Amino acid sequence: MNKINELKKIIEESNNIVVLTGAGVSTDSGIKDFRSKNGLSNTSDIPMEILLSNNYFYSHTEDFYKFYKEIFDCSDIMPNVTHLFLKKLEDSNKLKAIITQNIDGLHSKAGNKKVLELHGTTFSNHCIKCNKKYNSDIVFKSNGVPKCTCGGIIKPDVVLYGEPLPENALSESIKKVEEAETLLVLGTSLVVYPAAGLIEYFNGKNLIIINRDETPYDNKANLVIHDNLSKIFTELNK
Ligand code: ZN
Repeated sequence: MNKINELKKIIEESNNIVVLTGAGVSTDSGIKDFRSKNGLSNTSDIPMEILLSNNYFYSHTEDFYKFYKEIFDCSDIMPNVTHLFLKKLEDSNKLKAIITQNIDGLHSKAGNKKVLELHGTTFSNHCIKCNKKYNSDIVFKSNGVPKCTCGGIIKPDVVLYGEPLPENALSESIKKVEEAETLLVLGTSLVVYPAAGLIEYFNGKNLIIINRDETPYDNKANLVIHDNLSKIFTELNK
């Protein structure tokens, strides 16, 4: 049996699928891979771990926003075939949760409701002074630093370097992984916490990893595909 058919069969036979997604899921929607920094200006030689840190947000707010707006403006970016496949999977009641490290909000944009965003989302923002909530327009359409009507600075609800992960999303993710029959890992190299740690909680039947490159968990998986995700899910839709 070829790998696509094998994948199809596992999905057909599973009724409790949990999906873990990383940056690779969004690259075909045109999201820039900020880790590679290719084609990005304004970044000079400062490492991303500093540019996107909690400390830098407060100490260099204007520079923070220059970089942030350049790489994270997702307002015109649309879900791709992989996101849409996962929406169908939720509609069929097989998918119990998507746990994502992405902050682009594309799973929600595709219509998925059961999404756990471990690193937050650019679509949600708040004033650091009065806590008023804002959507992403105020951030991406503003010049310079976005400000609240009260004059306070608006901060994105994304997890910056130096900040803890949202506790509820993390504990809920662990629970979902523990209960899952099938864990489908998409577009993450599984080297960074928390994705790598989450895999350890899986006790189910099928671990499937689809990623462009090898991962440290490939040898534990029942099915491993090293390929482009859009290609795989286009095939799967046939
Ligand atoms: Zn305010």
